[in-house]
Amino acid sequence: MADLIGHADLVRELEALAASDDPPHALLLAGTEGTGRMALAIHYAMLLNCDRAAPPPAGASLFGDDTLASLESGDGGIPCGECRSCRLIAEGSHPDVIVMGPGDVLCKPRDGESHAKHPDSRDIRICQVRGIIDLAARYPFEARFRAIIIDPADRFGREAAHTLLKTLEEPPGHTVFCLLSAAPESIIETIVSRCRRIDVRPVPRTSIEEGLIARGYDRELAARAAEASGGRPGRALQLAEQPDLMGDRERLLERCARIAAARWAERFSYANEITDRYRKDRNSVVPELDAWEAFWEERLRTGSEGGEARETLSAMVNALRAITQLRADLLANVNTRAAFELMLLSFPRVTLAATPEEEPLAYA
Ligand SMILES: [Zn+2]
Ligand SMILES: [Zn+2]
Repeated sequence: MADLIGHADLVRELEALAASDDPPHALLLAGTEGTGRMALAIHYAMLLNCDRAAPPPAGASLFGDDTLASLESGDGGIPCGECRSCRLIAEGSHPDVIVMGPGDVLCKPRDGESHAKHPDSRDIRICQVRGIIDLAARYPFEARFRAIIIDPADRFGREAAHTLLKTLEEPPGHTVFCLLSAAPESIIETIVSRCRRIDVRPVPRTSIEEGLIARGYDRELAARAAEASGGRPGRALQLAEQPDLMGDRERLLERCARIAAARWAERFSYANEITDRYRKDRNSVVPELDAWEAFWEERLRTGSEGGEARETLSAMVNALRAITQLRADLLANVNTRAAFELMLLSFPRVTLAATPEEEPLAYA
């Protein structure tokens, strides 16, 4: 609730699902990181468990209809955000709401065996799926519905995926799964088909701006963070919290423009350089890839508004695809230098002179 910005339509959909007689036991929240997938998953867990959503206790009728009437007249809906369940979930301390991904969470070695911890593993391992199955078989501590949030859900190894599938096929009534993924096409179809898919799209800039202002950020900061977030409320909150990151982003965007206009030789030396940085620290290139995405999205937007030629626009779409492909390649551990080079080769060469807003670049 607290971190949910935008997505009024999806919230209504989740409310209807949670209030139905048979709420879906598995959701697939598909969308780019930072768009609000986690906030929506948390919201679903709250909807299912809010104390106000509980059926009236037996004997409530002894008190006439007052109990119900007082509930209905309250200003808050469901989730109320105030009951014990809502508060614990919002704080991230509810014992029945589990967030897991690659790493050690829920690791359960085979009976009688043990293995070393694997906090840095890149995949969700079979031992963790064993942990999920074991947990799902038990009753929740206090929730009506335990929620297991898997992020990112596209990191199951083959064996792990097939093992999880059995649990999704015969779900225990008291456990719901929320699978989060920016690359749902990498999840095996048999898992996807057992989930209710919800596409989480970028949020309009104005809604993000309003959301930030409502959270107490000043207008100017809210506007800048919303603008820089690329429709991702999660990213906007982070930028509003650490405005320095926006300066970094502006510098990165300038650099993208310079490289997109440069000769091939320069692109290749950039490919080498970013590969080396990636090998030293994988996370160091994340903001840079975000900047490339923002760079091409912006050019595509202004290009299509300005009536650019079809080929030019499709070259930009290809550039965006190349970034998605690179992200997938990096996850798959392919030859990283070749992957970066391929991305840079897929970028069309731009002429900066045609875009007055970029003129300040000294070398142009
Ligand atoms: Zn509540
Ligand atoms: Zn393990």
